[in-house]
Amino acid sequence: MVQGRLFVFSAPSGAGKTTLLKRVMGELDNLVFSVSHTTRAPRSGEMDAVDYHFVSRERFEAMRDQEAFLEWAEVHGNFYGTSREAVLAQLEQGMDVILDIDVQGAAIIRASRLIDAAFVFISPPSLAELERRLRGRKTDSDETIGLRLKNAAQEMRAAVDYDYLLLNDQLEEAVMVLKSVILAERSRAHRLPSGGPIVLEGL
Ligand code: ADP
Ligand code: 5GP
Repeated sequence: MVQGRLFVFSAPSGAGKTTLLKRVMGELDNLVFSVSHTTRAPRSGEMDAVDYHFVSRERFEAMRDQEAFLEWAEVHGNFYGTSREAVLAQLEQGMDVILDIDVQGAAIIRASRLIDAAFVFISPPSLAELERRLRGRKTDSDETIGLRLKNAAQEMRAAVDYDYLLLNDQLEEAVMVLKSVILAERSRAHRLPSGGPIVLEGL
């Protein structure tokens, strides 16, 4: 039985999603990050099985054909997918699971109605600030940054489909709001504060 809560986060690349999620995961218990599979090359400092499972295109396509992914999408020219088995196992252990996926992947999870999830969209304060952050990160080429900026406008249009819109302007404030969203979701009437479903003995 699925017991944990699924959180789906999307944002234009460079909005600060990784920064925010790392902070919040360091400050709240019982939260795990779902490590996606990708065909993208590792960036400097990224570790296999920690940031992503870095796989070849052939391996990704074989997994996709075996329906190993809860959702998958092509984003900025690379494939990304969420392992069905890993996510369901974590939820069944009662952990709250964080998916950091693009707007196409989020739409697939939403439409599948397989798992009840909370959807959070993280927005930068402006496109100019988004570009500053992408350049400041110094991990992507000019060409990659151009592609990510071009896709950002399109991705922003999907924000209306999410349950929460989090503006990442001042980092500390955004961390506080994000923690509040997770704690509030855990306190929804049909859930225990731990996040698990309410099953009372004797009822
Ligand atoms: P994403 O995971 O959304 O692609 P990152 O977390 O890698 O984005 O953040 C992109 C860059 O922006 C990083 O250099 C990060 O330090 C910086 N950053 C993140 N949040 C803020 C913020 N609130 N204000 C200023 N810079 C930020
Ligand atoms: P990056 O290459 O910057 O790590 O990620 C690029 C985009 O791919 C981000 O929007 C990120 O959320 C998305 N992404 C990462 N993993 C997955 C996944 O498993 N599925 C989908 N659909 N998108 C993902």
